[in-house]
Amino acid sequence: MINVQRSLSVIEPVLIVHGGAGTVSEDRIPGKLRGVTLAAKVGYQVLARNGSVLEAVEQAVRIMEADRFFNAGYGSVLNIVGDVEMDASIMDGATKATGCLSGVRDLLHPISLARAIMERSGHNFLIGDGLHSFALDQGFQFLDPPGQLVTQYAKDVLDEWKASDQTDRSGEGGTVGAVAIDADGNIAAATSTGGVTGKRVGRVGDTPIIGSGTYADNRLGGISLTGDGDIIMKVCIAYDVLRTAELTGRDLQPVADELLDAMNASLGGTAGLVAVDSAGNVAVAHNSKHMSWAYQRGDTVAYGASKEDFNMQPATDSQFISLAEDRIFEVKSAH
Ligand code: ASP
Repeated sequence: MINVQRSLSVIEPVLIVHGGAGTVSEDRIPGKLRGVTLAAKVGYQVLARNGSVLEAVEQAVRIMEADRFFNAGYGSVLNIVGDVEMDASIMDGATKATGCLSGVRDLLHPISLARAIMERSGHNFLIGDGLHSFALDQGFQFLDPPGQLVTQYAKDVLDEWKASDQTDRSGEGGTVGAVAIDADGNIAAATSTGGVTGKRVGRVGDTPIIGSGTYADNRLGGISLTGDGDIIMKVCIAYDVLRTAELTGRDLQPVADELLDAMNASLGGTAGLVAVDSAGNVAVAHNSKHMSWAYQRGDTVAYGASKEDFNMQPATDSQFISLAEDRIFEVKSAH
């Protein structure tokens, strides 16, 4: 659907984000669009100031983790006992360094902890008590009192889910992700989520699993997934999209569309993704009704919330930033 191929030999930096695949009520779509456009602009600013792609995707994700309109950080969906338990991952395409975590609570910015795991833990993936003590050692502060990431909206959604037949796994979605490429061809990807409403305590989704929820390789591209993680992780879509495009010599966009359809045909489930190839071409694909997304390249921000939706505006247009600021969660000295 979206085809923005670049023919230039010089790579133009781009920062693309998604705000989750699902079915979003009309009244919440403007909030999602404000959040993704703000995140794309903030992430792109990092690139424009010669910051690294890792810093760019981390900062873009942090914007959405702090925004109640997304299922990540503040505003995360609730597990079956009404708590927020979050998963996140980040990957550096230059080195294939990865940082992944699962089941973290009371931390506003899991993506920053994922990056610390990648850079300073000596491992790829931490969980449980070890994750908690690593975070404390690194100076991360957990919210005290606990439970501050729980919103009334998330409580209402959990109540509705409990009152339903509990078979609908898609919901509104709201997982967040970002992928960036700089002028030197460095690529990074990051994804952060509260998972799915009503999940069991301890459930792990696709988001923190490298190759399923997130992947980055300067040669192949970068990608961030969202959707039914219990299905996505069975088909390792993140890696499969990038690798299939490489093997077939096709563009990411048709490959992504086809693999999402193939997943749905064989296993069910809806999902979405944003991706960037090694030349800086972007792909936006989803088989859910909605997925908010935005990217900035040069002075232009493109964004949308459904397949038919493709908008562009000058990045200097301030309307989204001013509207988004009042929704950012304020935490004293939050990491
Ligand atoms: N993929 C996430 C999970 O399964 C949820 C989502 O993207 O909506 O945890």
